[in-house]
Amino acid sequence: KMGRKFFVGGNWKCNGTIEEVKKIVSILNEAEVPSEEIVEVVVAPPFVFLSFVKSLLRSDFQVAAQNCWVRKGGAFTGEISAEMLVNLGIPWVILGHSERRLLLGETNEVVADKVAYALSQGLLVIACVGETLEQRESGSTLDVVAAQTKAIADQISNWSNVVLAYEPVWAIGTGKVATPVQAQEVHSELRKWLKENVSAEVAETTRIIYGGSVNGGNCKELAAQPDVDGFLVGGASLKPEFIDIINSAS
Ligand code: PEP
Repeated sequence: KMGRKFFVGGNWKCNGTIEEVKKIVSILNEAEVPSEEIVEVVVAPPFVFLSFVKSLLRSDFQVAAQNCWVRKGGAFTGEISAEMLVNLGIPWVILGHSERRLLLGETNEVVADKVAYALSQGLLVIACVGETLEQRESGSTLDVVAAQTKAIADQISNWSNVVLAYEPVWAIGTGKVATPVQAQEVHSELRKWLKENVSAEVAETTRIIYGGSVNGGNCKELAAQPDVDGFLVGGASLKPEFIDIINSAS
């Protein structure tokens, strides 16, 4: 896809025990997958397991946090800062996941502030955008994802460390995956938005990945879409079928 390396992220959300984490990591470590030149694999355990997973995980897979504090750390009880992730050697962070936008009230501006600060500290960012069912049904999908992307674009000048994840809220954890046509439509519109509002180069090089009920059975057809550059996977990233999703790259 125009030289954009396929990207597969696994978002473990608020799940797992030490025993379960060991099991998932051993499945990943034993898996036969395409080389790092073909697919980039990043798993996002809960904060408390980040170092443990990093210490056990094969070296061709990377680790991400699921969130971080909006600016420099300090007197913010219960928060984890971007500096701490850097200090631990965690290269990636997911920001703007819909569960945080909707359940924790993260606005487009807060998400954009987080993206800008995390990038300034040297983190690589998976930035999530996506519409609710109500927004889709009222025909505002493209306006919503454009506004979410614009808030980020207004604050950053370098997109080379950003992966954009299109995750329609109605597809997350519901088993209702977007059709390949629906995903391709939004991905190509997002790319067009980047071309018109950022630059042709950023539009061409930025990975736009799809998330929302991706599984071993539906990943191939989605991966075949020209503007789908990979996946962000929730539920299925805790299961052996995550390997099939990684293999949809080839
Ligand atoms: C997610 O939370 O990013 C996600 C895509 O979840 P699921 O795959 O479970 O729909």
